[in-house]
Amino acid sequence: MTLMLYDTYERRLRPFVPLVPGHAGLYACGPTVYDYAHIGNLRTYLFGDTLRRVLALNGFAVEHVVNITDVGHLSSDADLGEDKMEKGSRRTGRSAWDIAAYYTAAFQRDLARLGILAPAVWARATDHIPEQIAFIADIERKGFTYRTEDGIYFDTTRLERYGHLARLDIAGLRAGHRVDLGGKRAPTDFALWKFSGDARRQMEWDSPWGRGFPGWHIECSAMSTRYLGALFDIHIGGEDHVPVHHANEIAQHEACHGHPPARYWLHGAFLRLADSDKMSKSDGSFLRLDSLVERGFDPLAYRYLALGAHYRSKLVFSWEALEAAQTALGRLRRAYFALPAGGTPDAAYRQRMLDELNEDLNTPRALALAWEVLKSGLPGAVQKATLRWLDEALGLGLDAWVPGVHALPAAVQALVDARQRARVEKRWQDADALRAGIEAAGFSVRDTPGGPVAEPLAR
Ligand code: AMP
Ligand code: ZN
Repeated sequence: MTLMLYDTYERRLRPFVPLVPGHAGLYACGPTVYDYAHIGNLRTYLFGDTLRRVLALNGFAVEHVVNITDVGHLSSDADLGEDKMEKGSRRTGRSAWDIAAYYTAAFQRDLARLGILAPAVWARATDHIPEQIAFIADIERKGFTYRTEDGIYFDTTRLERYGHLARLDIAGLRAGHRVDLGGKRAPTDFALWKFSGDARRQMEWDSPWGRGFPGWHIECSAMSTRYLGALFDIHIGGEDHVPVHHANEIAQHEACHGHPPARYWLHGAFLRLADSDKMSKSDGSFLRLDSLVERGFDPLAYRYLALGAHYRSKLVFSWEALEAAQTALGRLRRAYFALPAGGTPDAAYRQRMLDELNEDLNTPRALALAWEVLKSGLPGAVQKATLRWLDEALGLGLDAWVPGVHALPAAVQALVDARQRARVEKRWQDADALRAGIEAAGFSVRDTPGGPVAEPLAR
């Protein structure tokens, strides 16, 4: 079966046909690096990674580009409010440049711990200011801009199909709008370039229009064009990007090129917490990957949890669900480890797995097939090879797992190290107290000739 993907632009499943046979250009909107990524953000990147892996399994060479938003994302979608980076700088007392570097590294570390493959290109907005200025100049030449007191704006009224991606009710939006537009002519118009004005900014550049900084949407248009061309295969992001960010990327592109930048638009549904409606970076109320690790969870248990829901379905996070995912992953790992090597994948199962994945990335059903293989009665080595093949798409790292060797939460590792020091120094009471601390954190510790081995207590 060919790979079928649900295209938000056309609101239907479409067979994936690339522009260049055997290749797939994939652009993913990256994080705004003013704070840590939360597990909702990470769900969106797990979806992107699944897509990339399934494309590869279908034989496509994937050119994956992810941007880093380190300037221009304002605290309100209406182009009002403050740049999130400058706000993050005030919150932390560090420079906007420092926090961008710090949270970018933290984000990349989270992705690695989740088994998410690094893209071919990480594109930072602040490294591509000339490209953004050139793109805005092109939009201006085509007659789609106007100037206000605080910036250069895109005139959405000039595009007949503005908002088509989100099926926005433009007439209703425009008619019903009564609040102050801050100098904009229409509520859907958006900033391409904002002037620094009297504000003291850490990140600002000269431009043909005056000193300032780019709007949020132009970075993705400029960088996707730079790395993937004016028309590429697939553009992805979280579902919140549909009505504003991607609508505006499409508008910018249509103004310059007469068509949207990508041929397929895929969007991941949100994760939310069981006891709240949302999870928001901007109000600080969120769980990050380290919050899970601190409670003794393996990052890949979160990956397993995410794979258990289709990417277009809302996922409600709860500790109970994560616990169940960790238990299931532990069983799967142990079963896989115990199987003998040396087989080849079972052709029938492989086909069924590929069919599920090709049905718009149906990971829950592919995961169910992994369990079915373990009960299939096929020779052990064939089971193992089949699961290994599937894991190319699931990314659970089954082949790398060895019993007893897994990353410990940092706090537990510190206790294990301190206990080892106490033992070497023959402070036995301290060593016993530290063991109690390790157990209270949910881990057991054994002393082996190779050093202490700590493992999660049976759950
Ligand atoms: P941001 O750092 O806010 O620019 O968001 C990074 C990515 O995470 C974007 O693709 C968003 O669509 C996505 N995202 C934000 N919140 C959630 C959530 N609760 N669940 C899933 N994805 C999200
Ligand atoms: Zn984007």
